[in-house]
Amino acid sequence: MVRNDLNFAQKDTKQALIIGAGIAGLLAARVLSNYYENVLIVERDVFPEHMEARAGVPQAFHVHRLLPRGKMILEGLFPGYVDELIAAGGYQVQGKMARLVNPNGLNTLYQPEKDASCSRALLEWEIRQRVQALPNISFLSNKDVIGLQGDPDGDRISGIYLREHGQLDERTAVSADLVVDASGRTSKLSQWLRDLGYAVPSEAQVKANIGYSTRYYKASPELMDTVGTLVIDELPLEKKSGVGIIPIENNTLWVTLFSTGGKYPSTDAKGFEQEIAQLDRLGGELAARLKEAEALTLPPIAIFNAPTFSLLLDFEAASEGPQVLHELVERYQLPPAEILEKIVPTFSLQFDVFSRNKAS
Ligand SMILES: Cc1cc2nc3c(=O)[nH]c(=O)nc-3n(C[C@H](O)[C@H](O)[C@H](O)COP(=O)(O)OP(=O)(O)OC[C@H]3O[C@@H](n4cnc5c(N)ncnc54)[C@H](O)[C@@H]3O)c2cc1C
Repeated sequence: MVRNDLNFAQKDTKQALIIGAGIAGLLAARVLSNYYENVLIVERDVFPEHMEARAGVPQAFHVHRLLPRGKMILEGLFPGYVDELIAAGGYQVQGKMARLVNPNGLNTLYQPEKDASCSRALLEWEIRQRVQALPNISFLSNKDVIGLQGDPDGDRISGIYLREHGQLDERTAVSADLVVDASGRTSKLSQWLRDLGYAVPSEAQVKANIGYSTRYYKASPELMDTVGTLVIDELPLEKKSGVGIIPIENNTLWVTLFSTGGKYPSTDAKGFEQEIAQLDRLGGELAARLKEAEALTLPPIAIFNAPTFSLLLDFEAASEGPQVLHELVERYQLPPAEILEKIVPTFSLQFDVFSRNKAS
């Protein structure tokens, strides 16, 4: 249930609080709902009333593929979820063609199991509907989490501070027995911990500088099957982008040009088509097929070309500072691997659970 009234959040029950309602936050909530009387998810965005991408997850415009392991985990957490995706218009992939072109040649597969491919927005929509239906999970939307609250002894995290999105003056404290940061790539976790006096492990960065450029094409059902799922690998030495195509709901082919190392793919329609023609290692088949489809102008060609890097903060190895997963492991005697297996590998999820152990 989405509420925007703060009074209900201040409950006198065991409460887990999750920052961010992306896929990591939603799945963490689903798992924690088995262990906490009350799970509260705080999200910066207002949730769309219909299935559509939202500002807090800008990567959702670009091709996303859920790996089979992710599907298994989601089906375990939300039985019937694949059927629901198909009912919502997701493209049924069983028996359909998937091709991978890399420097060694072409590999063609026919997908053996029932599964659906769909936009990232539909995937998140379905998961959020299932999570919203759980009686002990509530959402606060349009709220920015702006910091963590430490308990008076300074030995654990006891809640968060938030304010209405866009406001600068107010600050409201919300208590929790467990706080999970699932706020994704814009997480301010390190800063918030430093503000409380905790030592934070040094950061390891891998700079990929990926660039994605994405266009949507309307296609007939026959054309959807003829193109199928297709990945043509990038050729970095030749400075050629790769392309990923996924058939999704509403008879749409989701087409993304991608490259790494700071060479960003074209973002205008002409350049996009030229690049497709240049990198087409299927003897011109791809460019010809896309000409049969109708390039959509809405959404316009979306780009993702920030100087991107992956960040690792190794809390587990740190000799001081908050212990990752400490509370879940200690309280429920669950080994970290089991918790991680349940929550993490579904996407390349990034999340941190922390409590206790303030640096002296
Ligand atoms: C271009 C691109 C393509 C990708 N393709 C794939 C793919 O094919 N397959 C795959 O598995 N992965 C892919 N990934 C990675 C995948 O998108 C991410 O790993 C995944 O989205 C992370 O999910 P998340 O829930 O941790 O974070 P996010 O999806 O980033 O969600 C974070 C949420 O937290 C909210 N939030 C942030 N700060 C605050 C705050 N202070 N207060 C309240 N709320 C806040 C945001 O609004 C958002 O809703 C891709 C990534 C990119 C950039």
